[in-house]
Amino acid sequence: MLVAAAEFLTYREAVALYAELRELGLVALVKTCGPPTFPFGEGMYYQLLLDENALVEAREVLETFARQRTQAPELRCPKCGSPGPLPVVGVAWWKRLFYAGTTLHKCTSCGKEFPA
Ligand SMILES: [Zn+2]
Repeated sequence: MLVAAAEFLTYREAVALYAELRELGLVALVKTCGPPTFPFGEGMYYQLLLDENALVEAREVLETFARQRTQAPELRCPKCGSPGPLPVVGVAWWKRLFYAGTTLHKCTSCGKEFPA
């Protein structure tokens, strides 16, 4: 029986995890799942399904992956790729509304503002 080994992965995460499991000789099934993200993000999530017998072998890979996921990825400017954008303080009310649930950041290199 197939069970979900990992859910709500981005495309990049799903590919990386699939490749790691493949090295163990485990073939996972990747499916799309979840609601599209709005208004930013990848647009779609992926789910990784494994045979329940394979879960035991995959456990270490999955646990390592889960640990890495909980660490916040380093933010980078979407325009110039510079790391270390700063959260914008004193954002106009309409911007706060538009970016609800995210924090507006400003690139220290090029000045681009973007939600993260
Ligand atoms: Zn920038």
